[in-house]
Amino acid sequence: MSERVFDVASESDMLQLGAALAKEWQTGDCVLLIGDLGAGKTTLVRGVLQSLGVVEGVRSPTFNLMQIFDTQPPVMHADLYRLDTAMGIGMEEFFADHLCLIEWPDRAEGLVDSEQCFVVRIDFAGSGRRVTVSR
Ligand code: ADP
Ligand code: MG
Repeated sequence: MSERVFDVASESDMLQLGAALAKEWQTGDCVLLIGDLGAGKTTLVRGVLQSLGVVEGVRSPTFNLMQIFDTQPPVMHADLYRLDTAMGIGMEEFFADHLCLIEWPDRAEGLVDSEQCFVVRIDFAGSGRRVTVSR
């Protein structure tokens, strides 16, 4: 397992980190975003999507369960906060041909194999955040 730690001081640095990580991720990859409400999960997703050319429409938080973006690679962004379980929402349909970015993946137990995913953990650190990326 590889693990990298980033100290991310601001929202704009978080967007940049998302853009940098996007270069490492591809179709079929699954990224589990772990962190409390307000940690910056959606911000990192926005950074990924902005780097793929999406200018608006990435919603925070929990507005939609899933948003699909016709980018290259295609992206599925899920925010499972309001659910007890993601069983039955059809998320699996997107796994093979999208880069899947999943907030609150504890709701997706049994659907995703975390061993096969990238895990991004975001912790509060002073006024900024500490982001740990492992695989
Ligand atoms: P989450 O999706 O984890 O609930 P959001 O992405 O909606 O969190 O972000 C919540 C707030 O945290 C936003 O106001 C955002 O600007 C801020 N934020 C994101 N990343 C950072 C950072 N690295 N340092 C400081 N503030 C940040
Ligand atoms: Mg969010």
